[in-house]
Amino acid sequence: MAEQADGQALDEVVTFTSDLIRIDTTNRGGGDCRERPAAEYAAARLAEAGLEPTLLERTPGRTNVVARVEGTDPTAGALLLHGHLDVVPAEAADWSVHSFSGEVRDGIVWGRGAVDMKDMDAMILAVVRSWARQGVRPRRDVVIAFTADEEASAEDGSGFLADEHAGLFEGCTEGVSESGGFTFHDGAGRQIYPIAAGERGTAWLKLTARGRAGHGSKVNRDNAVTRLAGAIARIGAHEWPLRLTPTVRAALTELAAVYGIETDLTDVDALLDKLGPAAQLVEPTIRNSANPTMLDAGYKVNVIPGEAVAHVDGRYLPGAEDEFRSTLDRLTGPDVEWEFHHREVALQAPVDSPTFARMRAAVEEFAPEGHVVPFCMSGGTDAKQFSRLGITGYGFTPLKLPEGYDYGAMYHGVDERVPVEALHFGVQVLDRFLRTA
Ligand SMILES: [Zn+2]
Repeated sequence: MAEQADGQALDEVVTFTSDLIRIDTTNRGGGDCRERPAAEYAAARLAEAGLEPTLLERTPGRTNVVARVEGTDPTAGALLLHGHLDVVPAEAADWSVHSFSGEVRDGIVWGRGAVDMKDMDAMILAVVRSWARQGVRPRRDVVIAFTADEEASAEDGSGFLADEHAGLFEGCTEGVSESGGFTFHDGAGRQIYPIAAGERGTAWLKLTARGRAGHGSKVNRDNAVTRLAGAIARIGAHEWPLRLTPTVRAALTELAAVYGIETDLTDVDALLDKLGPAAQLVEPTIRNSANPTMLDAGYKVNVIPGEAVAHVDGRYLPGAEDEFRSTLDRLTGPDVEWEFHHREVALQAPVDSPTFARMRAAVEEFAPEGHVVPFCMSGGTDAKQFSRLGITGYGFTPLKLPEGYDYGAMYHGVDERVPVEALHFGVQVLDRFLRTA
């Protein structure tokens, strides 16, 4: 039996990434998206490999695909591999290539979705097809899910699958998806491969201040705008206390080891200073955060409105939701109400699990110069919805990236693109991980 993905898989991952980019699955929110052609494309590629994909829709055109590769050990927990099919909009005028061309130029695949995350969708397809050619079966069942609607509410995608089709995910204990296993260059010659083992929770808040409406020329101690402004200013200025989750502790400890510096978690600021650019892998996830983003009040300069509304983008760490709530109660005060406009759970995955060790080993095999460390994602993915099924989520979309390529800027950015070599690496690493998982 061949030990790794074949040459055809390396060709196919490029073709599939490019083809999927050309299928415009822009998600503008509010239901304005159609994933169906991309879902049909993916399903056809799976069917060619002898799998039996199921297409599922809550809303016509918002199509999800689920398939199962049977493993050799029926007693082992199944592994969920998932990738979303939708992408965020691209403003064509800003781009140096057509944003949905999927053009391959000078060893780079260009277009919206190249890293978020049609690359991973293509890698999954390429790997399972190479297994079919080689007669490979993984030890664990591997459940593949291509989802709709990740870039909006996930209600037509992973939320729908988790709530309405739990049976398709029977036996799944762990999931693997976007944002992890990529090369982070520290600018001093070190290459770090962060693997995600956690996500902050999402807390989009609506604040409402009420008061006494009246004439703008009169004394008014119950002014809703003044009350709201006070609350917003307190939230914006609040310094959230340091909170180290297990993943972030492990990240700091491992990064300190990479840099040969002492791990002193009692003085995290000093430690972050010493880590230099690598500090950005942990900085967004050592605290809760709450940023005021929208304000809405009044309709005329000489009329005091009876109500004023604001929105705040809050994120909380695993285990820190209660503290987040009580802090918001205190910062808003008695005159301003707040509620979750949209709320999603925080996730924490163990970094000492066999699965994490196998992801690490797969990266180390194909990038021996790299240092693998765990990290926590500051935002969220479909793993939040799948966690309702008891599935522990990791972020692992392996990509070997050249220095100077700004991976973070590709997400939802202009000129999103991915090197062909990065896709080849991804296929090899994903294949190795899944064979040994
Ligand atoms: Zn994504």
